[in-house]
Amino acid sequence: MIVFDLICADEEHRFEGWFGSSKDYEDQQNRGLLDCPLCGCTNITKAAMAPNLGRKGNQQPAVAKPAADQSEGNAAKPVSNKPVVPAEYREIIGKLAKAQEKLLASSEWVGDKFASRARDIHYGDADEKPIHGTASQDEVAELVEEGIAALALPLPVLPPESKN
Ligand SMILES: [Zn+2]
Repeated sequence: MIVFDLICADEEHRFEGWFGSSKDYEDQQNRGLLDCPLCGCTNITKAAMAPNLGRKGNQQPAVAKPAADQSEGNAAKPVSNKPVVPAEYREIIGKLAKAQEKLLASSEWVGDKFASRARDIHYGDADEKPIHGTASQDEVAELVEEGIAALALPLPVLPPESKN
């Protein structure tokens, strides 16, 4: 038996599902046999979670966390050598990308000037407005130390000049 954390797309209810194998799960999902015990919808996917594949204790978890939490400066980033990402992962990343786009719609791209622009705004040398750009983890750590809001975005952002 294998247990998966499942989530219904309609209401985002989380629940556990037990299957004979992951193939069994795929079969049931493909045939629309899975439904949410809370709302009955059949739009079920595996919930995003760190895969529990015999990870060793001292390795980085495979989940993104805000750089502000990474006090050690240039901490290792989660990577995977699996070239084929599952459909549900792509779907989640797609949603994340849309959410991030919305978040940045009114924000100004400042490229690698993020740290200095954020300081200017924080100390009143520039008008207050949302900005986004690139910063090293050390820069982000310094900003956070000074009490300046800096949050790592979950996805990379294409600089406007590289968009066509
Ligand atoms: Zn539900």
